[in-house]
Amino acid sequence: MTLPTIDTNYFTIFVVDLLNIPSPTGFVEPAIEFVERELSKYKQLQLSRTRKGALVAKWEVKSDLPPVALTAHVDTLGAVVKEIKSNGRLKLSRIGGIQWPSVETEGVWIFTSKGEKVRGSVLIDTASGHVHGAAGSETPRNDDHMEVRLDARTSSEKETRALGINIGDCVAFDPRVEVTNGFIRSRFLDDKACVANLVAAIKSMAESGQGPVRSVYFLISNYEEVGHGAAAGIPSDVAELISVDMAVVGNGQESDEFHATLCIKDSGGPYHEGLNKKLRALAEKYNIPYKTDVYPFYGSDGEAFWRAGGDVALSLIGPGIDASHNYERAHMDGLIATTNWIMAYLLND
Ligand SMILES: [Zn+2]
Repeated sequence: MTLPTIDTNYFTIFVVDLLNIPSPTGFVEPAIEFVERELSKYKQLQLSRTRKGALVAKWEVKSDLPPVALTAHVDTLGAVVKEIKSNGRLKLSRIGGIQWPSVETEGVWIFTSKGEKVRGSVLIDTASGHVHGAAGSETPRNDDHMEVRLDARTSSEKETRALGINIGDCVAFDPRVEVTNGFIRSRFLDDKACVANLVAAIKSMAESGQGPVRSVYFLISNYEEVGHGAAAGIPSDVAELISVDMAVVGNGQESDEFHATLCIKDSGGPYHEGLNKKLRALAEKYNIPYKTDVYPFYGSDGEAFWRAGGDVALSLIGPGIDASHNYERAHMDGLIATTNWIMAYLLND
């Protein structure tokens, strides 16, 4: 049996559109709605929401086998307004620990609680070379020294508040998406690339007239970056769960952008040996380019479910993402490998 063909053009358009929808943890509704609209095209799926706001798509089939689940998260790193300074600029509280140097000078949108948005950019508070000289390079890049300069006429706290900005408003960093030679360079490929993998797998299977051998739940989770996304939302009769999330690329890592990776161990410990074996056998059967790896600073949504008491076999697979939680990059080869792996898993018992 060969796997259904993946429409790579569709994949690219979908992932670029999703990357361009701001969705820091806690402010994901537009991104969830976007995925929901896309998945509503497939009559095979029953869509629902958890109370926490995650999207669940169930593809039900008649089978004696217990259902399985796959999850990917649509929430990303970001920030909220922590303080409005006396000069009208903003101090931020980061969501999920974005690295300050990676967003210095980046454009941001501030989403006010009244539904308006204000443009701005992230700067160090000693930015002007003609004012601060060498201090501009020496100032530590941390929560105290990074600020948002708004593209609006304000030089006081009062004027900034008059723009509708309040403490706690969502701040989204521009993803800066570029597609070149099969590479996708963008912030927040973690984990929107893998949401695209799930959607592309569903589309390819549905359009080829094929379907999973047992019922499957797809959970598009919305609180992964703060550690508890998939803690809820996986029904208790699910026997196996696959977390689809980025693989770690960099010094000392086996993963790269051109393969999918099976993570054996991360900060939360080893995954499930039996399910790992099954996934390796499928990769070999279908010639899916894959690696195995160990991630040093990493926890997955599947582990959040385990910690919450979830009783499933759990594995973690995903495409290699270079410079994760920084200015990330993926390649179509790794993304296709991951999508194929998902289909191979669902089409075989
Ligand atoms: Zn992730």
